[in-house]
Parts: sequence; C-alpha cells; structure tokens
Amino acid sequence: MKNLLLTCCVVLSGAAQAQQATDRVAPETATNGQLIAESAEILAALKSKADGQPVVAENWMIAAANPLAVEAGAAILRTGGSAADAMVAVQSVLGLVEPQSSGLGGGAFLVWYDAASGELTTLDGRETAPLAVTPTLFQNDDGEPLKFFDAVVGGRSVGTPGTPALMAEAHRRWGRSPWPSLFGSAIALAEDGFAVSPRLAALVEFDAERLARFPVTANYLLPDGMPLQAGKVLKNPAYADTLRIFADKGEDGFYTGPVAADIIRTVATAAGNPGVLSQLDLAIYQIRERAPVCVTYRAHEVCGMGPPSSGALTVGQILGMLEAYDLAAMGPSNVDAWRLIGDASRLAFADRGRYMADSDFVPMPTKGLVNPAYLAERAALLAGEMALTDIAPGNPEFDHALNWADDEAIELPSTSHISIVDAYGNVLSMTTTVENAFGSRLMTRGFLLNNELTDFSFRSHSDGVPIANRIEPGKRPRSSMSPTIVMKDGAPVLAIGSPGGSRIIGYVATSIIAWLDWGMDVQQAVSIPHAINRFGTYDLEEETIAAELQEPLEALGYKVKVRGLNSGLHAIAIGPDIKGGADPRREGIALGE
Ligand code: GLU
Repeated sequence: MKNLLLTCCVVLSGAAQAQQATDRVAPETATNGQLIAESAEILAALKSKADGQPVVAENWMIAAANPLAVEAGAAILRTGGSAADAMVAVQSVLGLVEPQSSGLGGGAFLVWYDAASGELTTLDGRETAPLAVTPTLFQNDDGEPLKFFDAVVGGRSVGTPGTPALMAEAHRRWGRSPWPSLFGSAIALAEDGFAVSPRLAALVEFDAERLARFPVTANYLLPDGMPLQAGKVLKNPAYADTLRIFADKGEDGFYTGPVAADIIRTVATAAGNPGVLSQLDLAIYQIRERAPVCVTYRAHEVCGMGPPSSGALTVGQILGMLEAYDLAAMGPSNVDAWRLIGDASRLAFADRGRYMADSDFVPMPTKGLVNPAYLAERAALLAGEMALTDIAPGNPEFDHALNWADDEAIELPSTSHISIVDAYGNVLSMTTTVENAFGSRLMTRGFLLNNELTDFSFRSHSDGVPIANRIEPGKRPRSSMSPTIVMKDGAPVLAIGSPGGSRIIGYVATSIIAWLDWGMDVQQAVSIPHAINRFGTYDLEEETIAAELQEPLEALGYKVKVRGLNSGLHAIAIGPDIKGGADPRREGIALGE
C-alpha cells in the first residue's frame, strides 16, 4: 500500500503550509495595530500554527476562531477569571469580528468540566421554534419544500436566540469575575473599530447579493454598496450599545425591553419573507441542562452534547463501531482505515437521519443508539473488504415502538468553536452558531439574527410517516454541533469541536482518532487532511494529500468528491502541560500561559 498520509497531518509541504497559514493570518497581524502587533504572545501563537506546532502552556489555554476574541478571553483569565467568564468575553468579541458565524442572535451548546466537583455538565442554548410556527413553514403552496435560500434569507428562519441566555447561565454557575467586567474588550473594539479580517471580507463579497436585501445589514457590511475590504477599520456602535445593556441588565436586557422589541420588529417586517417570532417566545426562552452523552473509546470516555444535537450520539456511534478495529495498527496511511471510518460514519448518519431530533418533543432511543451491544452489532457490518452497498438505519433499543421517516434537513457550514482550560482546571468546550454564514442576513442592534430553523426538516412527513426532526412550536432544531470533552480515568484530557454543518461530526471524530489512535499532537490532529463520508460520497480535502485517497477509495466502490472542507477545529489537550491547536483553515489561534 502506497503511503498516503505519511507522517500524519501536514497537508501541504511544510514550507507551503507555513506560507499558506501566514498568508491567511498576516493581514490581521499587519492591520490590528494596537491589539495584535504589540502582543508578542499572539504573534508567537500565529507562528506556532503556521509551523504546525501546538502552543504549550502551564496554567490556562484558549483556542478560538479569532485572535482578538482569544485575546479578550486571555485578559479575563490573566486576572483570575474562570473559563466561563473568558467564554463570555470571547463570545462577545466573536459576535463582532466574526459575525458571520456566531453571536447574540444565535444559539450554542456548552460542555463544562468542573474541577471542584469533578462533574461534567452540558447546557443546551439552542434556538427554539416560535410558538406560532406551523408544519408547513418551509413549504410552498403545493406542500413542497422551499428552496434553501428562499427559506433562509429573511424572518421565517429566525429561532429564539439562545446564546445570550447561555452566556448568562454559564456565568451564574461558574463565573468568578463580575458580569459587567466581561464586556470591556468587545465594547472597546466595537466603538474604536477593529480591522476586518480577510475571511470576513471574502464572505461578505461572496454573499453580497443576499446581504444587500436588508438595509441595516447592507449599511454595515456593504458600506456605499461595496463589500467591506480586509483591513478596513470597522466600528459597530449599535453593538456596543447592546452589549452595554446586556452588561448592565443581564439576559433580561436582551429577552425583554427594547432589544427584544427590535428583534421582533426586524423579523416581522423582513421584506419579502417575514417571520413569526414573538415577544413571548423570547420571554419564555430557557437554557436546558441535559445529560452528557458519553461513549467509551480506547479506554477514554468521549463526552458531548445529546439531543437536540446529533453531535455526541453520531460521533459516539462512529467511534463506538470503530472500537472493534485496530486503527492504530493500520495508521493514517491505510486506505482500509478510511473504509472503516467512512462506513462507520455512513451507518451512524443513517441512524441520525431516522432517529435524532429534539427529545423533548419526540421519543428517542438515546441510550439504545450508543449501547455497546448495538454498536458491536453495527460494527460487524464493517467486517468486509469493500465499501458497503446498503446503508440503512439499525434497530436500536427503543423505549417506545415508533415509526419514523428519514430526515431531510440541509445544513450549510458556518459556526465557531471555543475551547478553554482555566487555571483552576475547569474545561469548557462550546460550539456557537448563527447557522448559515450571516444567518438570516437580518441585523438589528449591531448583531445578526440566526437562520437556525432551517436545521429542521422542511418536510414534516414522508409517505404519511412523520419525520422526527419536523418543525413544531417551541421545539429545537436538530444540530450537528459536537462540543466534546474526552475524559480519562475521570479527568479531562481533550476539549475539541468544530464548525462545518453536518461535517462537524466527521471533523471531530477523525481528529479524536488522529489524537488517540495515531498519536498526533493536538495541532496535528486539527490539521489532518479531511476525508469525510456522511451519506455515501467520500469527500476528500482538495490540495491536500487526502486527495490521493481518491483512486484507492474508488477501487473499494466509493463515489469520491475532492473539494474544500472548511473545518474550524479548536482543541486543547490537557496532560502534564496544556497544549492548544487551532485549525490552519481559519483565522483562529491557541493562546496560553
Ligand atoms: N446549524 C448547524 C448545526 O447546528 C451548524 C452549522 C455549521 O456548523 O456550519 O448543526
């Protein structure tokens, strides 16, 4: 067998990759005068990523999608704040500098390891469907699904935001710093301006037509009708005002009062595609604590967010099936390892499409799906030598006998992942989103509103059989977000997660395999060239050595597509020291001390 993935992870040659990483981050270093160029730590973190090396620290670490956001969180940790405090600062800045991915108008899931109690907690800050929705929200007059962007752009797709409530709840439970002190960096950056990053500029340009539909959004992102340019210093005084209200009044300042009123008005008056979100939806919004979903893999517990996310269950199913196969002995260069990973993933996605949704609304076989006996049965299907020709959902043990049809939700990648370890030993893994890039494209009070409702299946039934992930009032759309903490002997050893729509699941699962089975360090594990299979086609990351898997995978019977695979993995490994890794495909860094 030809050595395909050789030494593991470096996608391009070392020099080319360093050059590419530097190209991607350089404009930020050059333009963010005060905040970046003077920070030796940030320059070192950027260099570390460009060199493919993890950042190593003793006390704390943050890995997230933008240096300004990481720096804001670092400032909190340096003054004794907890990981929950730092998250509030990081999220506040991400909502400003990476508005296309996450913010106050979106939703998020958080996994928390509490050092004092040794407990793992998962909090669900997912958006909810308005109480006034009907099953035909995303269907035309003939009952056929709307085209994706016809559904996304405008008020129809906007769910009740959960991120502000999640920030407040995390701070209530685990915060150590005063709440108002967590917004200083974001307010200063919003008022004084920040340099538009190359990624934000590129995405604005790509999406200019849709962004131009709504005057508030257009005025901000397309000033004078032209897309924002990288390096331009952009101010967002409306966002600074909103943050002041949030800092002063807490979540009430968001879910009631003038901010809430503006959200409702913006959704209800969205030209051409209004929505039905109401003041009551905002007023009754609640964070839900859920039981973590954990699966044993190579003597570790891989733990994450259960329903309404399909993340931990699907990652857990993939790893649970692969437990039976010695991937370490095969190594990352072995095509058979990728056959096993790809088909384990296809089997898990078949179960995901059939069974996974908001378990507050539909009974789910949550335990049955990750029951070791069930996974062993599914794993036996992988024992052949060729790609599986029939992929069907299995029959996990169910508490109720139910008949579900397969889901048809479309998810397109945006989103952001934050991993934090604080000096007290707490660990946070949070994936946060407005769903599609720029969400619904509606903006109010300096932030964008999500389009999370399009994560529901547009059809409610298939041949008369209900779909578990159909839209219902108050329900949370099924997610793929997979914020994960890996535990070993009761202690956390890895925090990881990624954006990427339903490919998130594959990004997280393969990075965990890279780290656990193939012995890669945390930077190598997030940089590993992607080979992802969800529904049959094997997606291989273009311009990387993974593309060389095309022929051998085709020979095994797979359809293959070579394409860009834009993950945004941010991971922290906790051992005798703390190591952070940031995805070279995005603008983030890991920073620690
Ligand atoms: N809305 C998606 C989800 O919740 C995430 C979108 C993305 O990562 O790009 O699963």
